[in-house]
Amino acid sequence: MILYPIKKIRLDFPILSTLMNSYPLAYLDNAATTQKPNIVIDSQSYYYKNECSAAHRSVHSLSSISTNHIETVRTYIAKFINTSIPEEIIFVKGVTDAINFIANSWGRNFINYGDNILISAMEHHANILPWQNLAKEKKIELNYIPLLPDGSLNLSKLSELINRRTKLLSISHISNVLGIINPLTEIIDIVRTKSNARILIDGAQGIAHQKVDVQKLDCDFYVFSGHKIYATYGVGIMYGKYELLNTMDPWVVGGGIVKNVSLTQEPTFVDIPWKFEPGSPDVSGIVALGNAVKYINTIGIKNIYNYENQLISYAINTLKQQNLHLTLYGSDCNKSSIIAFNLKSYDSYDVGMLLNQYGVAIRTGHHCAIPLMNHFQVPGMCRASIAMYTNKDDIDQFIHGLNQIKHLFHA
Ligand code: PMP
Repeated sequence: MILYPIKKIRLDFPILSTLMNSYPLAYLDNAATTQKPNIVIDSQSYYYKNECSAAHRSVHSLSSISTNHIETVRTYIAKFINTSIPEEIIFVKGVTDAINFIANSWGRNFINYGDNILISAMEHHANILPWQNLAKEKKIELNYIPLLPDGSLNLSKLSELINRRTKLLSISHISNVLGIINPLTEIIDIVRTKSNARILIDGAQGIAHQKVDVQKLDCDFYVFSGHKIYATYGVGIMYGKYELLNTMDPWVVGGGIVKNVSLTQEPTFVDIPWKFEPGSPDVSGIVALGNAVKYINTIGIKNIYNYENQLISYAINTLKQQNLHLTLYGSDCNKSSIIAFNLKSYDSYDVGMLLNQYGVAIRTGHHCAIPLMNHFQVPGMCRASIAMYTNKDDIDQFIHGLNQIKHLFHA
């Protein structure tokens, strides 16, 4: 193992010292949501005890504090994903919100009958359903990059699926089920040489595990949810290229985004980013997101990536050595942070419930990726997913639990 302050990190996450069914909690459901460090938890109560106020609205001091928080975190996030333009950072509720926003604000206006959209067969429903709705409404062709038997993208088919009428490629950075890291640079190169399509990256599973550099990637949109990056629910980020955002109209409208509203004429809107942030913002959630990113920066996202890589290799190699009759999905691909498996033909829910008895929290079922389940012809899978605070003991407890279950089932 590389030198990595795992003991110190674990102390910063209070939930990790709790017991689950009399066992130390082995929390392996990080792809669903991550736990929060003290700096995030405490910042919320500090804000509500000392600073609670509406941002962008009033002239009093407290309100300026809230406004400053929002704009400081915006700059902070811009730096985190390497854009020098803070206006390219829009606060949203999360990935679901962001993709629906892009489909409705940009998609409805810039994609027309005869055009086509490309996604993949491994996507989360949040990156399928908004495009299916749009395709139906505007009679647009929706195509899917097919998968190879191991669940990775069949990139040999990519070129055939792109043409001059391709207006968008929307694809996940990392699969939420298999943990496969999609080769974004290669994909984006192919798309750019064959079309003028815009590129949207669903970063829900990428942002906490890999360095994201939106300029290097040259994507048009990159979206992620705060709760999967050690911050709280209800706040996420939509990054969009400045000139692109400037062509878009608000989708959700309301207070705080207008220059003028009249009873007889069209409204006029303020500039980006504020024109896409209607209503009262979740300031405490934004503060929490800033603190989560600060926390990650103190450890270093590259160190986290290296640490997690070693841990996931340890987990997969150890699992393969056990006589557990596991089917591992996508385990030999270039992957991060997630192990997807089934134990014989046992229902994933049964395995998950029994692991819970041993203090191990995993996710079961279809993972909001039913087309991917269909690809593997299974109704569901078990998914163990790690984070920066997962340690070897968690993995050993998980494997111990699986061995116990195997004996139970065989009894
Ligand atoms: N896309 C992916 C790849 C995800 O893993 C998730 C969350 N499971 C989402 C989208 C939706 O994210 P949220 O629920 O935070 O909107």
